[in-house]
This record gives sequence, structure tokens and C-alpha cells, in this order.
Amino acid sequence: MGLKEYRAKRNFAKTSEPPETGKKRTDGGLIYVIQKHDASRLHYDLRLEENGVLTSWAVPKTPPLKEGEKRLAVRTEDHPIDYAGFEGAIPEGEYGAGTVEIWDNGTYEPVEMTAEKKIVNIHGGKLDGRYALIKLKPRGKEKNVNWLFFKTK
Ligand code: MN
Repeated sequence: MGLKEYRAKRNFAKTSEPPETGKKRTDGGLIYVIQKHDASRLHYDLRLEENGVLTSWAVPKTPPLKEGEKRLAVRTEDHPIDYAGFEGAIPEGEYGAGTVEIWDNGTYEPVEMTAEKKIVNIHGGKLDGRYALIKLKPRGKEKNVNWLFFKTK
């Protein structure tokens, strides 16, 4: 997906969100982060480091902490690696206006990563264990962005 959409949606003169710096990571472990985003509608932004960006999904409900809890996760634009540490307020009138705070973070190990399926071992504070993200087939006029997010064995 790349960062074109991320840049196009934001005015970096107004928002405190980070522009892409091209920062390269030096330590081991792929980034896992969930940011609680109190925007027009409260949601949780799940981000996994993949191919030098943060692949991102918006989860409308509290992320699943135990097996059996299934959550809708709507694929959103890739975010720069720099975004993983972002917390703060996005001003009124800007895209995603509201407050962002880190709800959980840590690292993950990929188990299976395809365009339709991500199986990962998450090592976070709140989320810990094997998780699955499965892309759903769009029905009718649905956009092709809906995934299912759940804890698995
Ligand atoms: Mn968001």
C-alpha cells in the first residue's frame, strides 16, 4: 500500500502526527502497537510492522483479549514506523481529529503473512499469544477492507 495515502490525508503543518522520516529500526523484534483513538467514533488502531511500514486496521470495539472474542478490523492506510510512538491530540478539522494514546504495545513474530491472512504471535502487555487476522470477502457493495481479528490457539 505504501505511505502515499497517509501523506495525502494529513497536513503536517497542523497535525502533531509524525511525517515519515525514513527512520530505520536497529533493534530486533517487529513492532506491534494498538493506539486508542478517541475520534468522532472511539476505536482502536492495530498496527503491525511489515515491509518497513505499519500495516494498520481500525478495530471499533475493545481488542480481543481471550479466545472466542471476534472483532471486526477495518484495514486503513499504512502508517510510517515513526507513528508507533505517537500519542497526542489531532486538532479539530484535521483527519482523525481527537486524541491518540498507546493502549498496548510490544513486538510480534510472523507465523504466516499473506495478502488475506496474518497469523502472528503477539508479545504485548494486554495482548499476548497467537492471533489471526483474516480478510473477509466483500458482500454486495461492501468495500474490500473488512477483516476478522481474534485470538487463536
Ligand atoms: Mn484511527
